[in-house]
Amino acid sequence: MHAELLAPGHRISSLTGLTPAGDVGETLCFSQGSVAAEAETDPSGLTVDATDWVALPPLADLHAHLDKDYTWTAFGEPEGPLEDAIACWAEHGEHHTYRAIKAGARRHLLAALHSGVTAVRSHTNFHLGDDPLRGVRALAELRTEFAGVVDLQVVMAPGPWDGPDDLGRAGIPLGPDLIGGFPHLADDPAADLERCAAFAEEFGLGIDLHTDETLDASSVGLLQLAERTRHWPAGRIRSAGHCVSLSTQDDATRARTLAAVAAAGVSIITNPLTNLYLQGWQHPVATPRGIPPLREIMEAGVTLAAGGDNVQDPFNPLGNADMVDVACELVTAGHLTPAEAWHVSSHGGRATFGLPPARGLVGDVADVVLVRAAHTAEALAERAPDRVVIRAGRVVAVRRRVVSSVLDPHSPSDPSSVPTAEGAMQ
Ligand SMILES: [Zn+2]
Repeated sequence: MHAELLAPGHRISSLTGLTPAGDVGETLCFSQGSVAAEAETDPSGLTVDATDWVALPPLADLHAHLDKDYTWTAFGEPEGPLEDAIACWAEHGEHHTYRAIKAGARRHLLAALHSGVTAVRSHTNFHLGDDPLRGVRALAELRTEFAGVVDLQVVMAPGPWDGPDDLGRAGIPLGPDLIGGFPHLADDPAADLERCAAFAEEFGLGIDLHTDETLDASSVGLLQLAERTRHWPAGRIRSAGHCVSLSTQDDATRARTLAAVAAAGVSIITNPLTNLYLQGWQHPVATPRGIPPLREIMEAGVTLAAGGDNVQDPFNPLGNADMVDVACELVTAGHLTPAEAWHVSSHGGRATFGLPPARGLVGDVADVVLVRAAHTAEALAERAPDRVVIRAGRVVAVRRRVVSSVLDPHSPSDPSSVPTAEGAMQ
C-alpha cells in the first residue's frame, strides 16, 4: 500500500522508501508498538511504500490554553498587549460556559492531532462566575477522551488574584497533572512563586509557571524558580513558560540564570507566536521580539520546548493548534535551523512532558508523523498539508490537502496560471 492511501486504524509493519531525515533512514520497522530491527518486524501489519514522504518525530505542544480557545470574536475582537488581553478576559470570562470550554478544547485537540501533535500540556484558569472549576473539569474529561491518541497534561493555574488556596484544594480531586501560576503578575512575585511551589509540594505535584512574561529586565522569576526547585526529586516536573525578560537581560545575568536553570532541571517553554503578538506594542520601531535567546538556552544544557499558547483568543487572534507554525517562527524569529526547530517542537516537548523518546531508533515508541515533503525544511516552509499520524505503529489520524480547479491543467493556453495538482486526492 502507498502511504497516501493510509487511513486511521491501519496497523503498520514497515515504512519503506522514506526520504532519510534525522535518525530515520529509508526503512522504519515496527513491532509491538515499538521501533524494531528489520529482522524483528511484526509481519501482521501493512508494508507501506512511503516514497516522497519523511518520517519525523511527533510534535508536542507544551503550552496551550485550551479553556480559552476560539473566543476572540465572542469576546469583542480585542487587540493589544498582555494587560489588555487579561482585562478582556476578566470582562468576558464569567460567561464562558463549561460547554463552550469543552467544545473549543476538543476542536483544538482534533486540529492538533491532525497536524501531528500527540502531546499537549494545557493550562486552565479558575473561571469567574458559578462553577470556577469548570475549566479543570472539562480538560480532565478530555484527557480521558483523547487517551492513547493525544496525551494531555492539565495544569491547574491559580492566579495571584484567586486569593487563598481553597479553590485549588477543591480542584485537586479532579486530577490536575501539574500546578501552574503567574508570579510575574503578582504584587510580590517571589511570594507568589513560593505559594505555587509550596502548594504543588503539598500534593506531590510538579509545576509549570508562566514566568517573566515581560520585557522588564528586572523580572527574575526564572532564577527564583530554579533556586526554589533545585532540591526537588529528579522526576518531578518543573517548567517555566515564556521567559521573555531573558531577552532583555545582560550577558552575565543570562549566564548565571541559565546555569542555575540547567542545574535545577527546569525546562523552558518558548511561545513565539503569542509573545511576538503580546510584547512590544510600546515600541513601534526596533520592536523587541519577546523571544528568549533560544540557542543560548540549549547550549547551556537546558531542555527547551515550545508551545502554541493561544489560539484565536484575546491573547492572540491567530494561532491554529499546528505546531508546524510554531516551529516556523522558531526559525524566522528565533533563528534556529529548521532541524533544531523541529527538534525543540518534538523531542524537547516530549522530554519536558516526561514522555519516552520517539526518534525512530530501535526500541523507541513507534510514534511518528509522516509528512509528504522532501526534507524538514520543506515540511516547515510549505506547512506541508499531507500528514499521517502514527502511534504505537497504528495510524490514528490522516490529514490531506485536496485541490481542485475549473481550469484544464493540460491546456497549453496559459501555463503560468496552471495550479499545482501535487498532493491532489480527488
Ligand atoms: Zn500561557
